[in-house]
Amino acid sequence: MLENGQIKEVEIIDLNHTVQGVAKIDNFVVFIDKAIKGDLVEIEIKEKKKNFAVGKLLKIIEPSKDRINPPCGYFYECGGCQLMHMDYNAQLIYKKNRVINEMRRNSVNMEDAVVNDTIGMENPFRYRNKTAFSVAKKNKEIIIGPYEQGTYNTVNISNCMLQSNEADKTVRLFKELMIKCNIEAYDKKTEKGTVRNIVIRNNRQNELMLVIVTATENFPNKDIIIKELTSNIKEIKTVVQNINSKNTNLVMGHKNITLYGEGTINDNIGDLIFTISPETFFQINPEQTEKLYNTAIEYANISKDDVCFDIYCGIGTISLMAAKYAKKVYGVEIVEQSIINARENAVKNNIVNAEFFTGKAEKLLPKLYSKNIKADVVIVDPPRKGCEQEVIDTIISMSPKKVVYVSCNPSTLARDIKLLESGGYQLKKVQTVDQFPWTHHVECVVLITRKDR
Ligand code: SAH
Repeated sequence: MLENGQIKEVEIIDLNHTVQGVAKIDNFVVFIDKAIKGDLVEIEIKEKKKNFAVGKLLKIIEPSKDRINPPCGYFYECGGCQLMHMDYNAQLIYKKNRVINEMRRNSVNMEDAVVNDTIGMENPFRYRNKTAFSVAKKNKEIIIGPYEQGTYNTVNISNCMLQSNEADKTVRLFKELMIKCNIEAYDKKTEKGTVRNIVIRNNRQNELMLVIVTATENFPNKDIIIKELTSNIKEIKTVVQNINSKNTNLVMGHKNITLYGEGTINDNIGDLIFTISPETFFQINPEQTEKLYNTAIEYANISKDDVCFDIYCGIGTISLMAAKYAKKVYGVEIVEQSIINARENAVKNNIVNAEFFTGKAEKLLPKLYSKNIKADVVIVDPPRKGCEQEVIDTIISMSPKKVVYVSCNPSTLARDIKLLESGGYQLKKVQTVDQFPWTHHVECVVLITRKDR
């Protein structure tokens, strides 16, 4: 019988979906943080539950062939990355297998499906176009950085290998200026202090937007801070103060005051231009997003007579890409500001055959269908929880030729494919695209087609 406190030597036989190593002791499953498949390790049993136990990694006796020295020195404390101890190619294989395993678990029919290797990055560093760091005080010192794994404690970092060099520079200078100008970090416990978070966004031309999130409008010495930042870091094109007065772990509030520049930056995907405001959702790895969406458009194979739906359309990125090939595109999205942006983006890019609706997809889609608006091709890009049952049901009723599903969660993807299967559809192509190197996130696009009746 396994008991807490026992020391065991185990071989890691798999990685689970949160990238914990999986081992078996007398057929009992044990999960071990920071251990990877192929490692032989010494562990201490920390938490024995009914069906599994959690072990703490004490020593690596023999490393897996995929184990590497983490390229980032903060890896073992920072919660941002989970896979920095694993070779990049092995990460790509892991991500493809994650999707296959979820399909199998859900008994998806893969007989006719082509599953491609994950599309990775040539240089998987400094790819993020947005980072949000918390600002805190520890032992009287200002600290800025991401949260630790699983907590809201700030890790003090002076560089992050996933963000641009200029963003690193901005973080360091901002910290110096807070000290120099006597600006206090906000303290959630006492609800005192000024700066809560900083958010840095950049476009592909490396123009930066700095968002300084404060607890109230009062921001002492802001003029000196802005002047120092913008004169020392030429890439900073705009600075926005965002006010978040709530006692919450959400990064931003809803009020923005532009302190410098236009308050927005522009970025492009393919030949389309998008305007980005502090709160706009925009995919965070533009190089890979382009590959992901190009695959989605290729799978959709839209022709000039096709009516296309882009459900969960955000600011209309996929809709506007599809509009080039389609007779008409309908975009559906729950966040009103995103739809306002989507309409502006259509105008900016001279696209006239895209129409956007604000509302819940599960309500709007049946409504459109009842008005006899039907799709030949449906593209969905839902959040982690996947599509609502009503969305799947309406798609099946509409009976489009093709459904292209862009997913950030393989388990809800597989669940939804299984539902579509029972409505007469079949999985044809699967493509994982590594949007988030060194993290456990798995992004995937699949083609599902209507079976001939
Ligand atoms: N395709 C877009 C956004 C994908 S993210 C892009 O690539 O930029 C998923 C989107 O679904 C978010 O914009 C979110 O606001 C939206 N969303 C979440 N729940 C929804 C619902 N029930 N109905 C419609 N949209 C929803």
